[in-house]
Amino acid sequence: MRIAMIGSGYVGLVSGACLADFGHQVVCVDKDAGKIAALGRGTIPIFEPGLDSLVAENVRRGNLSFTTDLAAAVGPADVVFIAVGTPSRRGDGHADLSYVYAAAREIAAAVDGFTVVVTKSTVPVGTGDEVERVIRETNPAADVAVVSNPEFLREGAAISDFKRPDRIVVGLEDERARPVMTEVYRPLYLNQAPLLFTGRRTSELTKYAANAFLAMKITFINEMADLCEKVGADVQEVARGIGLDNRIGSKFLHAGPGYGGSCFPKDTIALAKTAEDYSAPLRLIETTVAVNDHRKRAMARKIIAACGGEVRGKTVALLGLTFKPNTDDMREAPSLSIIQALQDAGARIRAYDPEGMDAAKGLTENVTFCGGPYEAAEGAEALVIVTEWELFRALDFERLKGAMKAPLLVDLRNIYRRDEVRQHGFDYLSIGRG
Ligand code: NAD
Repeated sequence: MRIAMIGSGYVGLVSGACLADFGHQVVCVDKDAGKIAALGRGTIPIFEPGLDSLVAENVRRGNLSFTTDLAAAVGPADVVFIAVGTPSRRGDGHADLSYVYAAAREIAAAVDGFTVVVTKSTVPVGTGDEVERVIRETNPAADVAVVSNPEFLREGAAISDFKRPDRIVVGLEDERARPVMTEVYRPLYLNQAPLLFTGRRTSELTKYAANAFLAMKITFINEMADLCEKVGADVQEVARGIGLDNRIGSKFLHAGPGYGGSCFPKDTIALAKTAEDYSAPLRLIETTVAVNDHRKRAMARKIIAACGGEVRGKTVALLGLTFKPNTDDMREAPSLSIIQALQDAGARIRAYDPEGMDAAKGLTENVTFCGGPYEAAEGAEALVIVTEWELFRALDFERLKGAMKAPLLVDLRNIYRRDEVRQHGFDYLSIGRG
């Protein structure tokens, strides 16, 4: 199949490369000329494990190419995916659909013959209807079927998530799209990934329901962690105790500094807004959003308390800045709120992250970025693990103690055991292990 992927960011580039790897002929489009030029030189503009070799291999085989010329990619395509950003709209929290509609207009002017237009971006329920209306208004002669096919991949594990999904959801109103979408995903379908066909609105809502549920699950265990600290219980054992129940499941039950990233924060807010507009408020999700927002700064208060209630003039070192390991994505990372709150309290911040520092530099001020964990620890009165990158799991505590002004480790991801850290003479604080 000939596929055009509009938007070559985290989702578009991974999806495009994986679809090319299935044997389809894929052209990835982006309006960011710098990104396309970099891809043309073989440079991947984001950090995603395995993506560089997957892209290189499919470019070499002639299945994958890059362009800024949307019309040239869309004209011959059988299927056009829209994978542009849908950030929070400034002011009201609704999803900003301007990139989606702009792409729809450009696609409308370029389609040639029957074309399936697939919204892969996360979009509020009813957006497919509007995309269809925009296309027909721009080009009444366009012969298109507009489909919803939300993406469930996780950054950091994006390729295996795309290639081995738990399910593929396809929402359509025009039956002509069904065999086309089945063909697009045939290699996965053969591998038993359930291909779930639904109505378009159901598919759009399914994506938000999934993200909202996961955000709520994380927030649930985070609140449980706070209670554990007060009553002397261990949240990790509670999580294991409930997670072994198949009705609950063990995933997304790791207490931490609150969820972040490019999806959960904006998608929970957008879903709550949609629900409000339809007079079917989602109180659980509204509360999840509020609890999570509060939690990020609460983590800074926890660090301040561990430092004796005062950080003015003190140096705090942060290990990990991205919202989770194995990505360079800094969008809505809890580290940003923690840094701000610590700086507000007068702390000096040193920080190290294996992949996120370039992006973090544009989002923070007065942070000393360091070349590694031990450099970050120099002169610090507290070392805080914010993101659980693998390389922070076996720190040399003697070396850290030599570098730090005071041996204090605040482990916001519970990657260490209290006794092993304390035996090196460190004070140790974690999450929900009372
Ligand atoms: P991103 O910001 O990394 O990429 C979007 C890209 O689209 C940018 O490179 C931008 O230049 C390009 N673009 C915008 N308008 C364009 C146009 N008219 N023509 C060509 N290119 C255009 O965003 P992302 O993280 O890949 O997210 C894309 C969508 O997928 C969002 O709706 C998001 O909610 C959803 N999603 C993201 C993830 C994730 O983990 N990042 C997971 C599932 C779903």
